[in-house]
Amino acid sequence: MVSRRLASIPESTTMKISAMAKKLNAAGLDVIDLGVGEPDFNTPNNICDAAVDSIRKGDTHYVPTSGIPELRAAIAEKLYNENHIEVEPDQVSVVPGAKMAIFAAIQSMLDEGDECVLIGPSWVSYEPCVNFSGGQVRWTEVDDEFMPLNLSESITPNTKMILVNSPSNPTGAVFGRRVLEEIRDLALDHNLWVLSDEIYEKIIYGQEHFSIGSFQGMEERTVTVNGFSKCYAMTGWRLGYLAGPPEIMKWVNRILSHSVSHATTFVQWAGVEALKGPQDTINSMVTEFRERRDLLVAGLRDLGIKCALPGGAFYVFPDVSEFGGGDVFSERLLSEAMIAATPGSAFGPGGTDNVRISYATSQDRLRESLDRMEKMLG
Ligand code: PMP
Repeated sequence: MVSRRLASIPESTTMKISAMAKKLNAAGLDVIDLGVGEPDFNTPNNICDAAVDSIRKGDTHYVPTSGIPELRAAIAEKLYNENHIEVEPDQVSVVPGAKMAIFAAIQSMLDEGDECVLIGPSWVSYEPCVNFSGGQVRWTEVDDEFMPLNLSESITPNTKMILVNSPSNPTGAVFGRRVLEEIRDLALDHNLWVLSDEIYEKIIYGQEHFSIGSFQGMEERTVTVNGFSKCYAMTGWRLGYLAGPPEIMKWVNRILSHSVSHATTFVQWAGVEALKGPQDTINSMVTEFRERRDLLVAGLRDLGIKCALPGGAFYVFPDVSEFGGGDVFSERLLSEAMIAATPGSAFGPGGTDNVRISYATSQDRLRESLDRMEKMLG
């Protein structure tokens, strides 16, 4: 018998769809992969050079579990300057990818029977991470723009944490100050932890990104997660980080020390360069993403598909309930239009009417996708 705890954990649908699209393409079919969760840009050269130099210099040994001091200091400085979060470098841990940050933080915060609030359709790995800890998810409904509705009704005597992800994967929604203040008030009133996943913070279109960990009273109860995968196009490098109160970070480090040990040493030096080096490639990436978002949203609306205009990340999450719902629509996309997209049901019970379409692909391929969808809906 395998572990009972693991038996309830589903496979990641997004990874499954991407693998399926790659397999069909390898078999010679022209599948357009709109299931991807990674930028279609390459890591900037200055970052690659820093890693190569670092290997050659011999940065190939073990380092402290929580990361090299230079990167932790650079992260603490970044959090202070950009996010107005005041933490000492020893409240920062560097990890192999933001996913590990989320996993370790949740294991440190939740016990058997504790509840975690997820706001509307949410990234595929949050619920499994909560279940790994023995906790349960409670879903909050959202409006047409994916803003929380009746958030306080999701709080029970068992609630221990609220998870915030703005800009959001899969909806692209960006929470403004008012929504985050509502979450802060609930956290303060009910003595809750907040886990804030800010991995898409810089992929945002004309709106301001707020970090809930910077709000008054929240420094003691917020763990902020971020990483290099999206903003620096470094998905394969596996580099992320988290920062929070010492009582949580102590247990995060305990988990890391007995599992991954630490993020790859020379990759951490590349992270220092990413934070300290030129930042201009982010701007050009965001400009391109914004054009694609506009093209895709306009195209979908022209086809009669209801689609909110996302404020950030690189996904749209249209409502396809008039076309049979997300599962049926994504099946049809693959079998009739050779387009891989992720059914919204992968992101929780609030996503069944939707499909997640990633625009981390060229404008030409997006136009081709819209043409194929037009033919499909004929
Ligand atoms: N959080 C969200 C919302 C994400 O979309 C992703 C990547 N798909 C992650 C965390 C994990 O990123 P990483 O590559 O740093 O593990």
